[in-house]
Amino acid sequence: MPKDVYTMADLREWSSVTAGESPPIRLSVFGDPVAHSRSPQMHNPALQAAGIAAAYARLHILADELPEAFRLLPEHDFIGANVTIPHKAAALALMDEADPQARRTGGVNTVVVEGRKLIGYSTDGPGIVRAVRADFGVDMRDLRVLILGAGGGAGRAIAVQCAIEGCARLVLVNRTFERAQALAAELAPDFRETRVTGPLMRLEAAPWDGAAFARQLPFIDLIINATPVGMVGMAGSGPDFLRLSPIPASLLRPHHLVYDTVYTVDRTPLLLAAAEAGARGSNGLSMLLHQGALSFEIWFGRPAPLEVMRGALLSVT
Ligand code: NAP
Repeated sequence: MPKDVYTMADLREWSSVTAGESPPIRLSVFGDPVAHSRSPQMHNPALQAAGIAAAYARLHILADELPEAFRLLPEHDFIGANVTIPHKAAALALMDEADPQARRTGGVNTVVVEGRKLIGYSTDGPGIVRAVRADFGVDMRDLRVLILGAGGGAGRAIAVQCAIEGCARLVLVNRTFERAQALAAELAPDFRETRVTGPLMRLEAAPWDGAAFARQLPFIDLIINATPVGMVGMAGSGPDFLRLSPIPASLLRPHHLVYDTVYTVDRTPLLLAAAEAGARGSNGLSMLLHQGALSFEIWFGRPAPLEVMRGALLSVT
């Protein structure tokens, strides 16, 4: 019987630990914690539907185990891996090569084993572009975007994607304001070209407070929550963390599109606030789906069975 979660000790003895498993485990997700990851639930049905004789498993890898874990992937005949919290940035430094998107994002969530070499990619940014198009029927490049949590890994990947797409406007908000300011300074060259976006600047860092939200939101189309606020199961999260919307309904308008990257809750506090304001909203399940589909495409060079993956994700909520 395959385990729900394997460890570094298992990976060291991989052949004996997984002996007799069919199909063999040749893909995995590295994380700490990792037990919550839904990637196996999405990728195993996809592999089966595509007729690929490989299985996908969770590997609980600690930070100091990461270099050894990556070194063992080619040895144990892995096709590749995904990388999740908190290893995305550290993984980048451990790759033999990384694609330009991963280098700009500063992190890797998809690894391909090519002979003895590890090649790193980042599919979070392209994943949200596909998710926004699928959920709202619009292209991110046409939108004025505000990102909450533009100092964390996901927020950074999304902000870099906005820069690559050439979004109409970008506002970076972060609890630790300095991190949003640093990211804005880094992305400034991408936003030099003038576009008509309203009276405010095309690229801005804004502090996490009601007055800043009230000033910015009339000139924003898409609001993205890239913080874990509202995420059930988040360690140390008190009742307010789960109950309070990062932006109150009174500041939201019906024209806003609201995307919450949190996917462990169907309707997060931010999405409930959006509904109250008459705005459209969507949760992070579609980003999870599309970043996973992009990983599949990178590993196998063919389209992912998207509907199979979507059905599998929805069946485990
Ligand atoms: P991370 O690197 O640890 O960043 C966390 C971010 O959230 C930081 O900007 C942090 O601000 C902010 N934050 C944390 N607690 C906060 C609070 N109580 N109030 C306000 N801001 C707070 O984490 P991450 O990897 O970017 O993940 C962030 C979220 O994105 C998670 O909920 C994760 O599930 C989601 N995500 C979803 C997908 C998907 O496919 N749907 C993919 C990736 C990530 P400071 O800088 O001030 O600490």
